[in-house]
Amino acid sequence: MSDVFQDAVARLRNLGEEAGIRPEVVEALVQPKATLAASLPVRMDDGGTRYFPAFRCRYNDVLGPTKGGIRFHPGVSAAEVKALALWMTIKNACVDLPYGGGKGGVIVDPKKLSRMELERLSRAYMRAMADFVGPDTDIPAPDVYTNARIMGWMADEYEAIVRHKAPAVITGKPVGLGGSKGRGEATGRGAFHIVEKYADHRGLDRASTTVALQGFGNAGYHIARLMQQAGYRIVAVSDSKGGIYKKDGFDVDSLYKVKQESRVLKGVYCEGSVCELVEHDTITNAELLELDVDLLVPAALEDAITEENAGDIKAKAIVEVANGPTTLAAEGILAERDIDVLPDVLVNAGGVTVSYFEWVQNRQGYPWTLETVRARLKSQMEDAFDAVATARAEDTSTWRAAAYAVALRRIETGIEMSGTRDYFNSED
Ligand code: NAD
Repeated sequence: MSDVFQDAVARLRNLGEEAGIRPEVVEALVQPKATLAASLPVRMDDGGTRYFPAFRCRYNDVLGPTKGGIRFHPGVSAAEVKALALWMTIKNACVDLPYGGGKGGVIVDPKKLSRMELERLSRAYMRAMADFVGPDTDIPAPDVYTNARIMGWMADEYEAIVRHKAPAVITGKPVGLGGSKGRGEATGRGAFHIVEKYADHRGLDRASTTVALQGFGNAGYHIARLMQQAGYRIVAVSDSKGGIYKKDGFDVDSLYKVKQESRVLKGVYCEGSVCELVEHDTITNAELLELDVDLLVPAALEDAITEENAGDIKAKAIVEVANGPTTLAAEGILAERDIDVLPDVLVNAGGVTVSYFEWVQNRQGYPWTLETVRARLKSQMEDAFDAVATARAEDTSTWRAAAYAVALRRIETGIEMSGTRDYFNSED
């Protein structure tokens, strides 16, 4: 049976072949370098102990230490963590960061934990992984349902284990604990820079460009806010409880404010839903994906666009803010229908880029201003778009194929420098 990791490897093989990457380089990427699975014992508030399955995968480190987030979600699996770690390998290479790819996760519904249980779980994760991660080996960060506070607990636990300060072991920390300014908005802001470059590339008029956004979380909120400021019309927004639609477009900040005010805190999570909020028509998540809009922005989880709904998508382009929202089978259908898919490995790389900046600041002991972070993020994302657009102009089958070509060529160069069969067999 196909799983998300097999899908990721199949895509790697196809796109590696299309880009003319040496087979031995692709072979180096079909398995992770190392994966650690652990069971995390956590003392619950009622005095009992529960055990949570946890994973960390260091996928490939040819270009540098592995880097990628930690996800707390009931749907986490070993296969998902490996797939996400492979995508991080491609993403970091695509935007030219000196990193390999990694990822982690815990099978847990964190909304069902108290704050104290969540802290104990986060610290237990770091205790289990402390020999596997490190500022020069593997540097975790936040992902779905993990946040700055959780990164702060994990950094503190690591420092207690190694008995010295080591803020560069993890990124996405609170600013007061060595986090970078601008990290919270980085994924959405980076994605916004990619959309702007694409809009220029296509000659889109912002004011007449309509947008549907799936997932009004951290990444979704910031890209929506910046796009609205730039003149795009955000006509539909959803979260896990459902979606809302307004033909003339929403004011994203009012939406966010109402969502924040109406939230009920449980643990450290927001329970408010966009559906309870402002004047709107209610739509389902499935309807949102099939709206007749210019840009569809999936910013929730994997597998939003599958072979079941790809034929009904009416958007002209899809901007993958989430990781892996389009399945392999769906992508073929979209390509045939001439719908551009701007791929996750390019679009959402702003988060890891500012994580990289945080790591650099921690190692330098020299915090940057918000203006410096934003300016460097913009230039890193724009350079990445240009590199991918250049590859796309070589007539790759899709934008994803172009992004993989850029990434795989960089990894190929790294592997070639360490020696290949051709090198060792050549006479020169
Ligand atoms: P988040 O937890 O802040 O937000 C996720 C949002 O998706 C929430 O609003 C949730 O209600 C919504 N959601 C969940 N299931 C849904 C469904 N079926 N339909 C509609 N909405 C649904 O998470 P985030 O950090 O914004 O991450 C979102 C995506 O972006 C993930 O795929 C993540 O891997 C990716 N990403 C995030 C970052 C980052 O720095 N935050 C970086 C790179 C990639």
